[in-house]
Amino acid sequence: MLSAQTTDKKVNEVTPALFAEAPDPQAMAALPVDRILGFIRTVGLAPTKARNLRAMSELLIERHGGRVPNDIDALEALPGVGHKTASVLMCQAFNRPAFPVDTHIHRLAARWGLSDGKNVVKTEADLKRAFPKDTWNRRHLQIIYFGREHCPARGHDLGRCEICGWAATKKRIAGEAQRR
Ligand code: SF4
Repeated sequence: MLSAQTTDKKVNEVTPALFAEAPDPQAMAALPVDRILGFIRTVGLAPTKARNLRAMSELLIERHGGRVPNDIDALEALPGVGHKTASVLMCQAFNRPAFPVDTHIHRLAARWGLSDGKNVVKTEADLKRAFPKDTWNRRHLQIIYFGREHCPARGHDLGRCEICGWAATKKRIAGEAQRR
């Protein structure tokens, strides 16, 4: 919930103090929004995230007895919890098959020719078709780490890549054909 338009590093800087003050939904729901904002002020979209954290905590208590639900629809119904966040929880917290698509996965699926890169909904559906279900949870982490460490978005010349230079070549040819 905190990571939109913010680096993981920044999120990890603010959460220890926030969670020390509010380690569970009951404590978070008891904090004024301004107090939550004070902890997370340096992350992007902080005022909205502070309101969502408070509202989500109240709903966790009201609807789910203060526990995080093991159900993707129930998760997505919570304020500030989008499809990607809910999918991460399903696979990381509950070990249920899901394929959360972040910016690295979206980029690499297109580079590898596994999806056309139009949007993350399409990329998720294409990757779910491409990989066996029992590998999704592992696969999404592997692709994220590979993208971060080896295949960055910027300053990367796909034409020089031996493994998937073919995808770049295919795209370039298609682009040239369209321009003609
Ligand atoms: S060959 Fe290049 S573009 Fe392809 S996955 Fe490897 S680093 Fe990325």
